[in-house]
Formats: sequence, C-alpha cells, structure tokens
Amino acid sequence: MEPTREIYRNFPDILQYAFYLIAFLACVTFIYGFYRKYKKYRKGKDANRFNNLLKRFLKAGAIMGKNSTVFKRDHYAGFAHWLIFWGFVVLLIGTAIVAIDHDFLRFLGIHLLEGSFYLWFSVILDVFGVLFILGLIMMIVRRAGGKPQFDYSRSDLDAAKYNRKGYSTDDKIFLWLLLLIGISGFVIEGLRISADGMPAFEQWSPVGWMIADLFNADTANTLHLYSWWGHAVMVMIFIAYIPYSKAMHMLIDYANLMFKDDMAAKKLARVSEEQQDISMGYVAMTDFTWKELMDFDACTKCGRCHVACPANAAGTPLSPRDVILDMRSHSNECFNTSEWFKQSFAEAKKEKPSIAGDVISTDRLWSCTTCMACVEACPVGINHHLDTIVNLRRTLVEEGDMDDMLQDALANIGDYGNSFGQSERMRAKWTSKLDFKIKDVRKEPAEFMWFVGDFASYDAGIQDLTVKVAEVMTKAGVDFGILYEGEKNSGNDIRRAGEEGLFEMMAEDNIETFSLSKFKEIFTTDPHSYNTIKNEYPEFGGNYAIYHYSGLLLRLHEEGKLKFTKKLDYKVTYHDPCYLGRYNGETEAPRKLLEAMGVELIEMPRCKENSFCCGAGGGRVWMDDSKMEERPSEIRIKEAVALGSADHFIVCCPKDYSMFSDAVKTTGNEDRMEVKDIIQLVEEAMG
Ligand code: SF4
Ligand code: SF4
Repeated sequence: MEPTREIYRNFPDILQYAFYLIAFLACVTFIYGFYRKYKKYRKGKDANRFNNLLKRFLKAGAIMGKNSTVFKRDHYAGFAHWLIFWGFVVLLIGTAIVAIDHDFLRFLGIHLLEGSFYLWFSVILDVFGVLFILGLIMMIVRRAGGKPQFDYSRSDLDAAKYNRKGYSTDDKIFLWLLLLIGISGFVIEGLRISADGMPAFEQWSPVGWMIADLFNADTANTLHLYSWWGHAVMVMIFIAYIPYSKAMHMLIDYANLMFKDDMAAKKLARVSEEQQDISMGYVAMTDFTWKELMDFDACTKCGRCHVACPANAAGTPLSPRDVILDMRSHSNECFNTSEWFKQSFAEAKKEKPSIAGDVISTDRLWSCTTCMACVEACPVGINHHLDTIVNLRRTLVEEGDMDDMLQDALANIGDYGNSFGQSERMRAKWTSKLDFKIKDVRKEPAEFMWFVGDFASYDAGIQDLTVKVAEVMTKAGVDFGILYEGEKNSGNDIRRAGEEGLFEMMAEDNIETFSLSKFKEIFTTDPHSYNTIKNEYPEFGGNYAIYHYSGLLLRLHEEGKLKFTKKLDYKVTYHDPCYLGRYNGETEAPRKLLEAMGVELIEMPRCKENSFCCGAGGGRVWMDDSKMEERPSEIRIKEAVALGSADHFIVCCPKDYSMFSDAVKTTGNEDRMEVKDIIQLVEEAMG
C-alpha cells in the first residue's frame, strides 16, 4: 500500500463546499482586519523607514527565528516562545503543502503527499506538533504562576475605575485556542489512522499512531468527521480572530522589528516646521508617525517594560506598558478601528480628550526618567515609549504645565546656560583648586576638549571629583583644555524634559563655540552630555569624536600612559549609567579599568544594558521626588547592599555620585556602602 492519506476522508461534496465557504469568510475577516489597520497607519505621518529593506527584512527574520529578544532576560519565556514559534511555522508550512497538493497540484496530475515524502512529512509534523503543544503548556503554566505583570493592574488608577478583563480573556483565548487546535490535530490524525485499519506506514506519525491505538476502527470512523470539523472551525475562528486580538502580534511584530529605528530614544526627532505651526508637541493622533501607531498595536502586554521601569518601581503612576496600551485604545477610538478585547473605564471620557493630560496624565508624563529601560526590555521592537512621553511633554512645556523646580531650572539654563542659575564666569571656578592652569581651547589648541558639564562644574559636592579628573589626565600626559565660560548645558536633559527650543539653542551655541575652538577630540565625564553630543549634535552640524572619560582612561592605560602602581584591595559593585551603558553600549571600559586596578567586581543582578536608573534623567533631577514611595536610587543602593560582599559602589557619572551618595544616607547604609567615582580609584591606583 502506497503511503499517503485522503484529505477529505468520507466527506460528501456539500461538506467540502461548506468548508471552503467558511475558509473564505475567515480569510475575508482576516484581510478586512488588517486593511483597517493599514488604513489607520496611513493616517500617521511618514517615518522614513524604507531604507535597506532587504537588510531590515533579514535582520527581523533572524531575531524572530532565534527569538533572541524574547530569550533576553527570560530564558523560560524565550524557550517556550521558541517552541511555539517553530512549531507554528512548521505546522503552517505543512498545512500549506496539504492545501497546495490537494487544491492545485492534483489538477496537474501531481501528488506530493505520497511515498517517502509523505512519511518524512508525517514524522516532521508530529515532532513539531509536540513541540508546539509543549511550548503552549509552558506559557499557560507561566501565566498561572501569577507573575505581577500579568494581572494588568494599572499604576495610576484604583481597580474600581477601570476594567481590563478583556486583556486577560484575550490571553486565555489565544493560548487555549492554539492548544486545542494543536491537540485536535493529533486526535484527527489518530482517528484517521485507526479508521483506516492501522496501516503500518502510519507509524511515521508516532503521536497519531499512539492515539489510534485507543480507538476501535468503527468508533474512529464516526468520530473522525466530527473531530475534523471541530479542528477546522477552530482554525477558521483563529484566522478571523488574528487582526482583532493578541494574535496580531504574530504578524505585526515582524513588521515592527523590521521597521525599528535603532537610534530611537538615543536621538530624538526634531520638531518639523509643519508640526511647529500646530504645537511643539503631539496634540492629535495624526501627529504620530505610522511606525508609532504600529508600535501601539504591536504590544503583547508582556509587561517586561512595566517591571523594568524605575518610575513604576518607585511607586509613581507611570507604567510604560500602560502608556502604550492607552495610546492603542485612544488611537483605535480616534481612527474608529475595531478592537475586540479592550479596556474600559468607569468614568465617561471627555468628548475631546487631550492626549497629554487626559489620555496620559501629566503626573505619568513627568514621572519618566528617560532611562530607556522600557525600550531595551521590549521583545517586539517597540521603541517609542520614551519618544511618545517626550513628544507629549513638549505639549505640556508649551502649556507651562510642569513642576516649579523644573521651570526654574529651565529658566536658569535660558538665562545663564546652566541649571544652577550661577554666572557663566563661575563655571570654571573649580580650576582655582588646581596648581596648574588648564588650557582654554578657545584660545590655544589642545588635542582634547573636555566638556565638563553643569554638575561637574557647579555642584560643590562634585567639584573635588572634577579636580581629580584634571589631575589624573594631566599626570597621564593628556593634552586637554576646557571652554571655561564658553561651555553651556549640553541640552540632553532639557530635550528629554520637552523643552525642544531651549535644547536647540544650547546645541547651536555649543556647536558654534566648538567650531571656534581648537581641538581634535572631545571627552566628557557626563554620560548625558556624551549621548547628546555623540548622537544628536550631528543633526545640527556638529560631528565629533567623543569619549566618555572611562573609555579615554582605558585607552591611556592600554597605551601605557596611565600606570597603576598600587593594587586596590576592594570588593566593589559597579553601576552602569543609563546614558552610557544602555544608550551607548559602553559597558566594558569601566569594567576593564576596574579589573586593571585589581579590585574584585561583584555584579548586581541588574547590570550593563539591564542597569537600573538612579532616577535623575530626563529632567527628573530638577523635579520634586518627595511623593515617590521609594526613590530609584534608594532601590538601587539596597540592591547593591543585598549583594552582601561589596562595600564600594562605583559610579562614573556626576549625577550618579550625587544621587547615590544621598541614597546611601537616606537608606541608612553609610556604614555598609561607600559611593566612589571611578576617578577616585584611578587616582589611588596610580599611587
Ligand atoms: S524611559 Fe525609563 S522611566 Fe521612562 S517609561 Fe521607560 S522605563 Fe520608565
Ligand atoms: S511595550 Fe513591549 S515590553 Fe512593554 S508590555 Fe508591550 S510588548 Fe511588553
């Protein structure tokens, strides 16, 4: 007997036609759902993401194939998702082969599903079917484990004020429908094999063979038709359900990863002239780009950004997941796009809610530290959590709806070029503590221009560290100078606070001063300035080679110019600044330096790209944080203390030094942890 199988086993013609009709209706519902989404995205602004299409396509394919973004930080979820993904893909290909073979090739006299092809086809589909079911069970068990991010509770509203049961229902339908489809596929196979009299070649379908053994041929023959229809109807419901539910992530997330902007958040978009005529920030859904609108739809509600967010951990009302989901709900309402499983609210919404203020409340918007942890954590390439918050902050700034302290800081920067409100002439006052004179690169050439930054220049608690940097660089023979009163706030945090006009003014002023100065490269101790000079100044005509001082110190050490003569016998932990590690991927230079100095480095659970913010970024350093349940810096210090063995907390950012020195005191850990800047260790190791 030739190994093969009958597709519509014992089906009268009328049932076959009925199946094609149902399949047609399911496909129409599917296409219509995605057409509505396409129409929605067409209403967004251009996002300029069609360059290098093939490269983008292949890169997204590689991420999806390896499930690398899901594996990251959660190996259990990554493995389960990998099983589901590849199980689904292989079963889909198998179903497509059956359809092509039966509905097209047979009319050409070709039959694929026979002989050894059929045998291999059978065993491969059985193996991947088992993996598929296993992955789904792992996910169901994980969700039943009650991880906090899966209860969908909001950080900003009492439970009585909203209802998100639709989200949980959607999750359950998605997982259980797929599981039932997978299991029923095996049941049909077993019933068919049993009804066909257990032909020996069907042992190539091992799972089906085992199920077949449970039935006698007559019962199997009767049950086969019903189980076939049960399976087929579930598959058709699933196809129709995809664009209106969580299942849409299977398709949209590929596109989302493909059109991802790797510079999002690191380099914020300028406000177009067209937008400036309306507002500096986003006020209508049509102000968002099509990619931003797609981001809102791509969210799987996995909650990774929610648990990574320092603002959320600090007890503020902000959750990046909820920002994305609220924007999704609002965009669907504005564009009248169908959404079957959605959240609802107890209070009626305003007739024309403002996005900044009503859809996303001002206290949520101002809670963000712009740490980028949400962007880094998101497995599906959503990288507009932070941009959305900044674009909405721009609207608030324009309306003057902000913290008084922030308003003062911005006014100071506008008046004096620094957030401390001190005279420009005081910027380099710290140099009076040196017994040598630092070059003024506006007047004499130097190899390096040191962009000192506001905190390192003006903050009395930081100035001693600034002096040490100058001394170490001088001892290492670095030819450097500074801009003295010519330097202005770099603008990184001003921009992220939403004051785009002031940022542009600072960037242009600094670039003009740089252009009149004589240097080859820049270094800075401030990761925030490092980010904006490196990533954002080029758009304003300023292209520079820039080092963070940790990178320059390592280079000097490797070149033999910076010698460590004393081995440091400390047990330390190191805190990666968000704007250095996560924004710019520089995690190794400080670690290599620490290693070179002989200290023992004990890593905190959250380190490198997964570091936890100090809470100062995005202008938060200028805002009141007294209402937080626990400051992010305090959470971080407790994380370090919990290591047990580390007694030094090493930083390489002036704001970090200030934030964590304070947090060590407020958490009562002064006797257990000492905060040090890496320059203090370097100076000590130099002997
Ligand atoms: S940037 Fe940081 S603080 Fe802001 S929403 Fe994302 S994770 Fe939260
Ligand atoms: S935005 Fe990304 S990380 Fe956050 S819940 Fe959605 S899919 Fe998960």
